[in-house]
Amino acid sequence: MINEIFYSIQGEGFLIGTPALFVRFQGCNLRCVWCDEKSALDFDKTAKSYAKALEEIETLITLHSPSLIVLTGGEPLLNEDFINIFSYFKSLNKTIQIETNATILKDDVETLLKTYAKTYITLSPKYISNYTIDSKFLDFDKNIELKIVVDEHLNESILEREHIRPFIEKGLLILQPLWENGSVKFLDKAIKLAEKFNARIIPQMHKLLGLK
Ligand code: SF4
Repeated sequence: MINEIFYSIQGEGFLIGTPALFVRFQGCNLRCVWCDEKSALDFDKTAKSYAKALEEIETLITLHSPSLIVLTGGEPLLNEDFINIFSYFKSLNKTIQIETNATILKDDVETLLKTYAKTYITLSPKYISNYTIDSKFLDFDKNIELKIVVDEHLNESILEREHIRPFIEKGLLILQPLWENGSVKFLDKAIKLAEKFNARIIPQMHKLLGLK
């Protein structure tokens, strides 16, 4: 079940600015208040099938030849089509970035991600799941980043938690100020937290540029 497929620029995280093909999976196990992808939240069986998605993907690959593929959602790692889609891009030798809310890493998915060197993981734990990160993600020591939205909930005690510390020590923490009603919020708070926790502040560039 796929929500949409499109070509744009990666507007978030350390791969910011990279042209990429995006595959947005349908369905998410969380319900963040400020989620900007509400159409992708329900596990809706009427969303695009794998076969239909593949047709669109092949057309866009031919048109753009992207080197970066972004698998996003919704929550891609819980989607029944994830393994097929990932394996397809793996067969094309593409770099595959996965944007996940980090709550659940199933064993078969973990194995798949670990067997492909061009996997890049963006963990984005959320307030609504108490910033949970499945401990299996802590085994990945390269091609991984931790991106946390700065909103009214984020504070120093959250960033001091045990499971966040390894990312801070390796300089892999990104603070993303909330985008709301057409502007960046909580920037001052983000700057204070970034100074203290060795983080980069990266706002959602695609929104600032008016891109998808
Ligand atoms: S985890 Fe992501 S897709 Fe799911 S509700 Fe939160 S912001 Fe939306």
